[in-house]
Amino acid sequence: MWKKYCPRCQRFSFSACRDTWICPYCQEDISSQPEYNINESVHQGGETGTGEIMEGKGNGRRTA
Ligand SMILES: [Zn+2]
Repeated sequence: MWKKYCPRCQRFSFSACRDTWICPYCQEDISSQPEYNINESVHQGGETGTGEIMEGKGNGRRTA
């Protein structure tokens, strides 16, 4: 399973196929967006920098 972040509606969508990926919320074509394997923890440090990925884990937001 894979997930992608849609920059248009700012939500994640999930799919088992990475070929053509249409956002189920806004029908945006997000095939070119980077995908994340949801079977692995997203801790590789190469994220978009929005800090929204590990929701509930408390490691996202940098509060100054
Ligand atoms: Zn969308």
